Amino acid sequence: MADYDVIVIGAGLGGLSAGALLARQGRKVLVLEQSDRIGGCCSTFEKDGYRCDVGASIVEIIQPIERVFQKLGTTLQQEVDLIPCDPMMSYIFPDGKKITYPLSAEKTGEMIAEISPQDGLRWHDFCAYMDDLMQVTLDTFFSEPASTFSDMAQLIKKNPRFLKYLPAFVSSYQDILTRFFKDETVLKTMAYQALYFGLPPSLVPGAYAMVPYTEHVGIYYPKGGMIRIPEALQRCGEREGMQVWLNQRVDKVLVYGQQVVGVRLSDGSEITCSQVVSNINAKTLYLDLIGDQYLPRAVTKGIKSYKLSISVPMIYLGIDYEPPLEAHHSVIAVSPEDVNRFYFDHLKKGELMHQNFGLICWSSHTDPSLAPPGKHVLNLIPEGFYHLKDSNWDEEKPEFIERTIENLSKTAIPGLKDHVVMSDCASPLDFERKLLLPEGAIYCLQQDLVAMAVFRPACRSRNIKGLYLTGSSTHPGGGVPTTIASGYICAGLIEKYEI
Ligand SMILES: Cc1cc2nc3c(=O)[nH]c(=O)nc-3n(C[C@H](O)[C@H](O)[C@H](O)COP(=O)(O)OP(=O)(O)OC[C@H]3O[C@@H](n4cnc5c(N)ncnc54)[C@H](O)[C@@H]3O)c2cc1C
Repeated sequence: MADYDVIVIGAGLGGLSAGALLARQGRKVLVLEQSDRIGGCCSTFEKDGYRCDVGASIVEIIQPIERVFQKLGTTLQQEVDLIPCDPMMSYIFPDGKKITYPLSAEKTGEMIAEISPQDGLRWHDFCAYMDDLMQVTLDTFFSEPASTFSDMAQLIKKNPRFLKYLPAFVSSYQDILTRFFKDETVLKTMAYQALYFGLPPSLVPGAYAMVPYTEHVGIYYPKGGMIRIPEALQRCGEREGMQVWLNQRVDKVLVYGQQVVGVRLSDGSEITCSQVVSNINAKTLYLDLIGDQYLPRAVTKGIKSYKLSISVPMIYLGIDYEPPLEAHHSVIAVSPEDVNRFYFDHLKKGELMHQNFGLICWSSHTDPSLAPPGKHVLNLIPEGFYHLKDSNWDEEKPEFIERTIENLSKTAIPGLKDHVVMSDCASPLDFERKLLLPEGAIYCLQQDLVAMAVFRPACRSRNIKGLYLTGSSTHPGGGVPTTIASGYICAGLIEKYEI
């Protein structure tokens, strides 16, 4: 008799949602997390009285999350105090001018019409198209496995409207945006979001161009920090008997006769189980924790061929003044071509840009309890990537923090450099070391067309019985709602295939 029915490796969103749902099915579940905190990229830490989010800074498209909590016998609203973020986003131009879109799509349309009457008209068509695409995606892509062509056929059978949007998946984010919008300023308020998928607008599949619309459907921040979402999943799972052990790194998945039989921890101890759910990078899982002796040669080759996703540096600041910003999220306004240039001319060559670029998250604007009274928290995601041509992140970090603060003080956040009272930074190398994300890859694997759905590592392993995947590495990919959706899909497959 095995020690547990299911062992989950990693307490990220995918691992905790799968674990909680499996415990609800009546299974004996153990979640093993190598770090001293749950949540992985969606977590929060405290330094000098300031609460900072490790990575994720907002949640949108909350329907997949609501569905998981309902299945757990509760509601998202009951478990997490979600604060709506309004305005939706502020765009800062090089001269310091700001365009700040409210949450309301209608009012945003009026603002766009003031910039360009033609684009204002097309905003309505864009919203209608993207709203339908979002509904279809929620009904299919975010709820069902898509590991095989037969899964895809089922998905289309369930909602034939999915077929209508296939061309959107095979065109690019930039193609879709520029089909609807022509004005340069308007395009500068929609280009940066391509990087939410880890690629420039010319490479991100076009269906993801729904984000500049979906953010208007609702964008939220959990009171107390992003960790409140994984904490709620853990709480619900524990009510069903799920156990979570911190500081326990899994070094091996034990396989006997092509069947999962347990895991080995870094201290050498072994725990037996009937199924393993992996919430870690699929390349690490298959190549290091399992080993190619258990995989057909073609599968090993396939796994090795996946490209890792991008990484980013995060700068965490405690400041003693109210920054001159207008929203929870501000972004330095960039054109689709600027983002492409960042990717091809800088990221690919390992050369930092040394100028303003990126996302500014003012979390204490939404939730003042994150900072001491009268003070604030800013999380910055400036330009940055894992491979640096002439340096490494341990050497680069101190100057990088200073340069970023200095640059942002010039136009985007005047006064910033005189008000920083706490600073910290997670470089791509830190993400690799602390969360065991190879090369700090925040979405595990690249998310282009050739690594989506049937082409992404399957949620249910075809070669190792009892092995399941959840989180960014598998369908439907990285992001808060998507990784929670992957936990739902994973638990559904285990319910279907494992007695
Ligand atoms: C900087 C940044 C900003 C982001 N912003 C947003 C945002 O605003 N909105 C949004 O929707 N998404 C955002 N994301 C993406 C989102 O946070 C992630 O896609 C999601 O949280 C990943 O969840 P996951 O289930 O894949 O697990 P992960 O978060 O990758 O967690 C995996 C866990 O496994 C543990 N682990 C690894 N190896 C082992 C091992 N051998 N043994 C035991 N445990 C192990 C790790 O410590 C980690 O806790 C952001 C990500 C980053 C990094």
